[in-house]
Amino acid sequence: MPIELSLNPLVESIKPSYIREILAASAKPNMISLAGGLPAPELFPMDLVQKALLDVAQVPDYFQYGSTEGDVALRQWIANAWRTPAETLDHDNVLVTTGSQQALDLIARAYIAPGDRVLVESPCYLGALQVFKLAGAEIITIDQLDDGPDLSQLEDALKLAPKLFYTVPDFHNPTGVCWSRDKREQVAAMISRRDVIVVEDAPYRELRYEGESLPQLSSYLNKVSFRLGSFSKTITPGVRLGFVIANRAMLAPLITIKQAADLHSSQPLQHMILQMLEDPTFGEHLARVRDEYRRRRDLLCKLLRDQFGSAVSFTRPHGGMFLWVSFDDACSDIIAANALACGVTVVPGTAFLDSDCAASNSLRLNFSYESEDVLAQGVSRLHSAVYM
Ligand code: PMP
Repeated sequence: MPIELSLNPLVESIKPSYIREILAASAKPNMISLAGGLPAPELFPMDLVQKALLDVAQVPDYFQYGSTEGDVALRQWIANAWRTPAETLDHDNVLVTTGSQQALDLIARAYIAPGDRVLVESPCYLGALQVFKLAGAEIITIDQLDDGPDLSQLEDALKLAPKLFYTVPDFHNPTGVCWSRDKREQVAAMISRRDVIVVEDAPYRELRYEGESLPQLSSYLNKVSFRLGSFSKTITPGVRLGFVIANRAMLAPLITIKQAADLHSSQPLQHMILQMLEDPTFGEHLARVRDEYRRRRDLLCKLLRDQFGSAVSFTRPHGGMFLWVSFDDACSDIIAANALACGVTVVPGTAFLDSDCAASNSLRLNFSYESEDVLAQGVSRLHSAVYM
């Protein structure tokens, strides 16, 4: 007799990831991918990887169990790189995680009880929505405007005593929005008066193509916050290494939970990443990545303008990997389905909304993965899909 297995109702409440399905479709021959948040594999620093792996392979100790917090030297590197002049960060303030996705999961498990309210920008990174919903959180959304969140909505939402505010101020996924300095200061002033945990997720912060780098939201806060970073976008996502920065007391429960989850992140790969970061040519690698993504972003903007004219609206992002494109009077789910039939994958705006019945006339287009020639073909296919 087959056993009836009942799932945790929280798991049943999670939308199956449309993006995962789209990514599977993107792997089909001749499919052009404007969907995933994938970095360009031809820009992976494979020469540095090879050199570092050969060196790491000389040290059996690196292949032993390690500490849950992560390698001390890598943590110190991260603390030095992310420290602001006013801070005294050191390795004790850094936990190395299995991608920044794990940091989100650990924070939710440590701090969110079922029914707690969590504020997010809308649209929101799907991976974060999933984590908070699995923890049983009640999600409260705040519209993302061109320069950051809608402040009157944020003010109202803060009155509901939320436990946590999750945000991506630098080149937000999916909209590409980078909060203005003014918004950072205003949001920090509003939040500082409240008892809310801030989670500032910054995987795209180092992918800036123009303009000056702005201080992180957390640097304005006179209270505890979590800052998340990742090596996925600047090195390679397959190494699955990221980190979370916070004060030691806030990190302590995360370390306990990580110990139960996976003991620690890969030791050999932590050593490989550290060696690459310390290589004198690493800065050239980053500059090459930024130059290429800037070119691809500019090309995608031009192609959209040339082919769609005033039928689309978008704001050219100053960094990151995504363009958020809105169509007059259109349904993003239909465009995405037609696009798939025309051989190009895109993500409909509905994938980033909390509600199952919400509609969207926007698409998220990725510009980091495909080469310039392929991007051009992709936009032609998208044009056929929209006017099908
Ligand atoms: N946060 C955001 C906003 C992301 O876009 C992603 C990946 N797409 C992640 C976190 C997770 O990144 P990783 O686990 O690869 O570090």
